[in-house]
Formats: sequence, C-alpha cells, structure tokens
Amino acid sequence: MAHDDCRAPTPRSNAPLTIVGAGPAGLVCAILLARAGRKVVVREWHGTVGWRFHDDFQGLENWSDEGDVLDELTAAGICANFEVVAVRCGVAFDAWGEPYGISSDAPLYYLVRRGHEAGSLDRGLLEQALEAGVEVRFGDRAEAADHATVLAVGPRIADAIAVGYVFETPMPDGDWICFNSALAPLGYSYLLVHGGRGTVASCLFTGFKREAEYVARTVDFFRRRVGLTMRHERPFGGFANFRLPRTAIQGGHLVIGEQVGFQDALAGFGLRYAFRSAFLAARSLIDGTDYTSLWRRELLPLLRASVSNRFLFNLAGDRGWRWILAHRLSVGDARESLRNLYRPSLLRRALYPLAYLRFRAPLHDRSCDHRECSCVWCRCDDRAVPGHA
Ligand SMILES: Cc1cc2nc3c(=O)[nH]c(=O)nc-3n(C[C@H](O)[C@H](O)[C@H](O)COP(=O)(O)OP(=O)(O)OC[C@H]3O[C@@H](n4cnc5c(N)ncnc54)[C@H](O)[C@@H]3O)c2cc1C
Repeated sequence: MAHDDCRAPTPRSNAPLTIVGAGPAGLVCAILLARAGRKVVVREWHGTVGWRFHDDFQGLENWSDEGDVLDELTAAGICANFEVVAVRCGVAFDAWGEPYGISSDAPLYYLVRRGHEAGSLDRGLLEQALEAGVEVRFGDRAEAADHATVLAVGPRIADAIAVGYVFETPMPDGDWICFNSALAPLGYSYLLVHGGRGTVASCLFTGFKREAEYVARTVDFFRRRVGLTMRHERPFGGFANFRLPRTAIQGGHLVIGEQVGFQDALAGFGLRYAFRSAFLAARSLIDGTDYTSLWRRELLPLLRASVSNRFLFNLAGDRGWRWILAHRLSVGDARESLRNLYRPSLLRRALYPLAYLRFRAPLHDRSCDHRECSCVWCRCDDRAVPGHA
C-alpha cells in the first residue's frame, strides 16, 4: 500500500475547523471537536440532514467488535438521543425458502431510522452538534475544500444499491432477511418492521438495471412467506460505495466515512465505520496523533477482512449462504458467529491478496448493454453519480 502523499494539517488550537458534510461521520466529528473546545463549522449541501434517506430503517451492527456499539458511542461522548430498537433475533431465509431462526443474547444490531424526521439518527446527531455549539450551515455546497479540515460528503459512486419501499403496516414487529440471487444478485433482501413502520428492500451488488424486477420479487416473497402488508408505501433507494483507500487524506484534509470508502464490503454496513473514522479524525485534530496511523491500525484490518468475505460470498453464492445459515448463524449465538465471520482471521488475511485483485477490478454491471446508457448506477462512462459532487 502506498504512503500518503501529503500530511494532515496541524491547525492552531483556536482556529475554526470546517467539516464538509452533515452526515453521521461529519456530525460526530463536529460534536467531539466542539466538546473539546474547538470552534466548528459544518457545511451541508442540502437544506436538512439525512437528505439522501427516506425515514427508512437501518441496522447499526453490533457484531464486528466484542464491545457494544452504543457503549462505544457513549464512551466517545455521543448519546443515543434518537429512536433505537435493540434486535436480538430474526429469521433468515435461504434461496430455497427454508427459514432459519437467528438469535443472540446481546443485541445483534440496533434499528435506527435515517432521514430528517424527528427521532431519526440524523436529527439526533444534529441536535447534539447544535447543543455542543457547532455552527451548521445548510444549503452550503462546498465546491472546493479550501478551508475544510475534514471531508465527509458520503459516497460518490455506486458499488451497491438498495431499493424498495418504506411503509406503514399493521404487521407485528419482526426482522427478516433472505439470501437469494433471484431476489438480490450477490446481495440480500430485507424486511424490517417496528412500531407500525416498515422497510423492505433488495440490496443489489450487480444487476442494477433490473432493480424494479428484483424489488417486485422481494415484495412478493415476503408477502407469501411472512404476510408483508404495506400501507401508504413510498418507493426509496440509495447507493453505497466500497473502496479500500490508499490514503484518507486529500489535499491535506482528513477524509472520513463513506467518502473515503470506509464501509463493510460484504453487506454495506457503513455506520460504524462512519462513527469510528470520525472518532479517529477528531482525536487526530485534538491531540495531534497521526490520522493515517490511526485508521490503518483501527479500520484497515476489518476493511480487508470484509473484502475477503465479499470475495468468498461471490464465490459461494446461494449454496454457500445456505451452508452458513444452517451450520453457523442458526446454531448457537448468532452474534458470536457473525463476529467470527468479520474477524481478520488467518484465512481472511491469506485470501486477501487474491480478494483485493478481484475487488479492484471495475464493477461491470452485466445487465447493462452500455448502449445509449442512461443508467444512473452504471459506471460505463465512468461518471460520478449525477447530483453528487
Ligand atoms: C439504502 C441504504 C441502506 C443502508 N443501510 C445501512 C445499514 O443498515 N447499516 C449501516 O451501517 N449502513 C447502511 N447504509 C450505509 C450508511 O447509510 C452510510 O455508510 C452512512 O450514512 C455514511 O455516512 P457518511 O456521514 O459518511 O455519509 P452520508 O450519510 O452520505 O452524509 C454525507 C453528507 O454530506 C453532504 N454533502 C455531500 N456533498 C456535499 C458538498 N459538496 N458540500 C456540502 N455537503 C455535502 C450530503 O448532503 C450528506 O448530508 C445504507 C445506505 C443506503 C443507501
């Protein structure tokens, strides 16, 4: 891996710090810096936080580390002032429709809502930032990062997409996932229902051009298998970027969260990486510890393990997932099994060089013929996703 070609700035302690992007990464970093007595300005392109989300449920995973993710946030000084549901069990289906009960003593993940609505993760973090004295400038799109110290603008290209519906429902609470390439090629479909709200989606790692078909199949599957009932449904979608960055410093600015590609390459869990990279950047700016050494030590082993997992998952396909569900996740404590899956074990480290070669190959979406392509997700002309800086 190449070394960073530029060093992070060492700002004077009384100089105002600018953070570009009011997503979870940018806001958490801003809160920590403001609490340390720094003057912080966050520049946010849109008129509100959580603009790219739709009040959909997301899972804040709680398995990649022994410690609980909410305790990790609390220890860093971030409180859970947003709606959060601890999920300890659920049902996973294989591609043949066989259900497997998944459970754990400790929470497997915490369900949070994303968007600008009251109770969402994004609104909670915004409130904490404002309370800490952070100035948040909405409608302020940064064209260049002249005065920025931290860049946190989120994903710039689509390596995976999640498409589906958010809705109201009379269904009882529950959490379901299905690993079936006919519903979500190289990905998974999920249905999350809590407190009369629901999110159903197909998370695709290829086949983006046929997203409507996969969503229809996903909805049909959950209707038949668990009685999915949707009222006032609204379509939603979003994209995710995975990258193993050579550097997390650009133009002398620290880069955090999904902008730099910090994301679980197996399943697209990016929130914990957003938080952790924000902690590390704030620490670097507060006490001068080298950010590059920090993220390489704390995040890189996990990122690499996730790339090896993605490689294995692509090879294993539906049959591989059936084996994992039957012999690992539904046997014993699922949180332990997931932690083993995410651990940078000897096998994953040995596989990594090969996995990385495959990972670096540009995404070729075989469902796109690249003729007169107007496909938002396609990289055939190597565009950034429209509407994004
Ligand atoms: C549909 C979907 C489902 C997901 N589900 C999960 C899940 O269940 N669990 C999980 O852990 N992760 C999930 N993720 C990933 C997770 O949402 C992201 O990893 C996380 O939001 C990244 O946070 P961030 O702060 O880096 O970026 P973002 O949340 O994208 O925030 C970036 C902010 O920067 C602003 N911005 C952009 N450009 C500029 C500019 N030029 N000037 C100023 N501001 C700018 C944007 O408006 C935005 O507010 C999901 C993603 C999607 C799309």
